[in-house]
Amino acid sequence: MLICHINPDGDAVGSQLAMYHYLVSKGRNVDMLSPNYFQEFLKWMNGVEKINIFIKDRALCKDIIKRSDLIIMLDFNQSGRLGEAEKYVLASGAYKIIIDHHQDIVPFTDLVISDTSRCSTSELLHDIITELNGGKRFDYTAYAEAVYVGIITDTGNFEHGTYNGNTFRIIADLLDSGIDKDRIYNLVFNNFSESRMRLKGYALNERMTILPEFRTAYICLTLDDMKRYDYRKGDTEGFVNMPLSISNIDISALFVEKDGFVKLSFRSKGDFPVNEFARKYFGGGGHKNAAGGEYYESLDCTVNHFLESLRKESDRITRQDK
Ligand code: 5GP
Ligand code: MN
Repeated sequence: MLICHINPDGDAVGSQLAMYHYLVSKGRNVDMLSPNYFQEFLKWMNGVEKINIFIKDRALCKDIIKRSDLIIMLDFNQSGRLGEAEKYVLASGAYKIIIDHHQDIVPFTDLVISDTSRCSTSELLHDIITELNGGKRFDYTAYAEAVYVGIITDTGNFEHGTYNGNTFRIIADLLDSGIDKDRIYNLVFNNFSESRMRLKGYALNERMTILPEFRTAYICLTLDDMKRYDYRKGDTEGFVNMPLSISNIDISALFVEKDGFVKLSFRSKGDFPVNEFARKYFGGGGHKNAAGGEYYESLDCTVNHFLESLRKESDRITRQDK
């Protein structure tokens, strides 16, 4: 059984599908699970319809977890990211493996394959699968597409993240497999609704606050905002990156109001570690320049807590030489 993290993004779904296609090609019996629904713009991916959604089919998913003898978890390293599936996965006697690229691991499996220098789990997985495949590229288009989606979503199509020369050697492999990179780019990045575009404009124009003293910008979106702009899962993807294009802004935050909690996203450019910030003040985590979390308070409380937290960290923020 393969399972990714809650609110799966392109790398979570991409690495899961890549592993799936490889294992199925080797004759394995594989089930895929996700704790909840994935982003709309991933629905075109080959095999995605075979991913069972825990919050949709609880009985089926519990049964799958129970009868699996191997559970591979992709793109996360803390059991809390399994959402409602957590207690069933933890209770299972299956051999458990993590394959991941995030920092701040809280180990809970038999085996951890983690490389925090990788831009994405999909990149790491491609090297693992190539090795499992006897050093030969696993040449299958749906697999190559899945790895490609993982890499371009976690790097914003090579705009940020820890990609390096090895990433591009992998990209070379994937292009050699015959993937259509322009088609994939359009499906991932140019596949949104008109209302999402307008939500983006609204978020920047009406909902962005600049805090020059903290070199910080933040955007808040309420449940009402989301309703007004016909929000679909994944619509706010990438919003948090936008304020970083302002020259004096090094830290960006996005607060999206949900039912009973607020979803947080943090980004930084330069040295400020938003993963430490997310962990210390919001119980979240992630990478140095891209992190997130959830906060179980109202939107107002969350913003106040954020402002208070910035004040506490003001030494570290303003100390940066630009
Ligand atoms: P995003 O802002 O795109 O949702 O997430 C950015 C990074 O932060 C991702 O690498 C993601 O795995 C991590 N992240 C997002 N939300 C959470 C969370 O609630 N907990 C933890 N530990 N990490 C998160
Ligand atoms: Mn990832």
